[in-house]
Parts: sequence; C-alpha cells; structure tokens
Amino acid sequence: MQTPALDCDMDHQQVVAELAVELHPAHPLFGVEVQIVAHDLHDDNVVCQHVNDSDRFTTVHLTWSRSEETGTCPTIECDGSWQTFLDWNSAVEAALQQASALEEQGLRVPLGETGTSSRPIIVTRPDTSRQ
Ligand SMILES: [Zn+2]
Repeated sequence: MQTPALDCDMDHQQVVAELAVELHPAHPLFGVEVQIVAHDLHDDNVVCQHVNDSDRFTTVHLTWSRSEETGTCPTIECDGSWQTFLDWNSAVEAALQQASALEEQGLRVPLGETGTSSRPIIVTRPDTSRQ
C-alpha cells in the first residue's frame, strides 16, 4: 500500500479485504495477483496494479456488499497501462468539472445529495522499480 493521501481516514486493510471478498470465479481479476495502489477518497474505485505485469492497472468499483459478487461486479472502470489510467482519470475529471460548471449555471441538476459531484481519484505514481 502506498502512503495514504492527506486526510485519508479509510482503513486500507478493509479495502484490501473487501476486494478479495467481492471477486468471484467469473471475474477477470479472480486469481490475479494485484496490489491496491490507490483509491478514490469520495467514491468506491480502487486502482489495482498487477503484480506480474507492473504496467497494468485495473480500476475496480467496489460494491461494499461485504460478500462475493456476481456478473460484472465489482465493475471494471479502466484497464491498461499507467498512461491509460491517467488518460481515463483526466477524462473523468474533465467530465466532472464540466458537470459542476453546468450545475453552477443551473443548467444541470446536481448528482449528489449534497449538490456536488464526487471527486476523481487522487493518486501518486506507484513505485514500479521494485519489480
Ligand atoms: Zn487511503
């Protein structure tokens, strides 16, 4: 696990445990050795780095059901190189910024109950030199 982001009060062991519980035999990540290197502070996305393919990152949206999932859950949001992840993350951030700009202008109804969109994942580049 990387150094937690500022003001992160999540129990990282619990995040690791939840991923392990949710993955089911038909899920693409089942049995794949991964390490969670980042998580969203306001959403349920976690970024998993593949242990045997250090430039492959799979972003998974945990359900927090505390039990084994079925079908496409936990959903894969992004899968590819670190650059692929950064591009995806930028696209999400741009979409959120556009959405909040529209909300400020009253042209769009806010998504969240607090009136703000969830923020994108905050990450630091994982240490790939240990591979
Ligand atoms: Zn954290």
